[in-house]
Amino acid sequence: MKKALVTGAGGFIGSHLVKRLKKEGYWVRGVDLKYPEFSKTQADDFVIGDLREQQVVRKIADSPFDEVYQLAADMGGAGYIFTGEHDADVMHNSATINLNMLEQCRLAKVKKIFYSSSACMYPAYNQEDPANPKCAEDSAYPAAPDSEYGWEKLFSERLYLAYNRNYGMKVHIARFHNIFGPEGTWRGGKEKAPAAICRKVAEAKDGGKIEIWGDGKQTRSFLYIDECLEGVRRLMAFDFSGPVNIGSEEMVTINGLAKMIIDISGKGLSIKNITGPTGVRGRNSDNRLLRQKLGWAPSLKLKDGLTITYKWIESQNNIL
Ligand code: NAD
Repeated sequence: MKKALVTGAGGFIGSHLVKRLKKEGYWVRGVDLKYPEFSKTQADDFVIGDLREQQVVRKIADSPFDEVYQLAADMGGAGYIFTGEHDADVMHNSATINLNMLEQCRLAKVKKIFYSSSACMYPAYNQEDPANPKCAEDSAYPAAPDSEYGWEKLFSERLYLAYNRNYGMKVHIARFHNIFGPEGTWRGGKEKAPAAICRKVAEAKDGGKIEIWGDGKQTRSFLYIDECLEGVRRLMAFDFSGPVNIGSEEMVTINGLAKMIIDISGKGLSIKNITGPTGVRGRNSDNRLLRQKLGWAPSLKLKDGLTITYKWIESQNNIL
């Protein structure tokens, strides 16, 4: 039986990944500061621990796991990473986790390690035209991410690649583009646009208004969680380190996203654009390298993933 270690297993993507690995027959250890919020973990062993602490990392990565998935990070949506208020924590906490994890995985002779980078590492100057953002993997330099979160991701990508180069460790790096789905944070300040808008729509009374940050013309693409995991599993099966985009190419404006969610709800709601943190003007996944290297790319329609997500958020007890 293959053994996998998932760090960040109490979070959104990590908790779904544990379920997927269990379905595939793995023995799984999960680690996080907290248990998953919305369903019981399926990990065989779940350790509550702080990965900034070296002694914790030594204990949890204590053997040559076949696969390690390093998803733990101090992160959140635009309301968390673009205000500047959490910059020191974001950089210090996530960089420390990655430094500790990689070194311990080297000592424990881990066979393969996956690292979740983010599209936030792409330079802001390539994302000023909302209709035509450039996010090909080789457009990363000269580096100019628009957030400290993006700078930390870029640093850690380089760290993983350096361990690959100097120690021959097998690393696989994906740049995720806005992953969403059920059992993701939907309130409290760390939620991202799809979940935040689903919540606002679910809470709104028919005929009312929902508030959207910025002028709503900023563009993004959003990838449903199942497709994200499919990409991760495929990347781990290939002899390719990346970094590679794992995202959708179905680009929408944020107001367009809100309209889609309003349609799904069946309510008569209008949009009120207000001042708020928005990030770059445009961003879309560029899946050419993904297709070329993995012979695969996501295909689920945004509306289908949003329908499932909206229903899940609407079903959470404290709404309405
Ligand atoms: P998440 O916040 O739900 O999960 C991250 C988990 O890491 C949390 O459960 C958190 O408690 C844990 N963590 C943070 N600090 C820790 C510490 N010191 N010790 C132990 N655990 C700690 O986020 P997610 O959406 O599941 O994202 C997973 C990974 O994917 C992150 O690295 C994130 O940066 C990356 N990513 C996500 C997206 C997205 O759209 N969700 C996009 C790009 C990149």
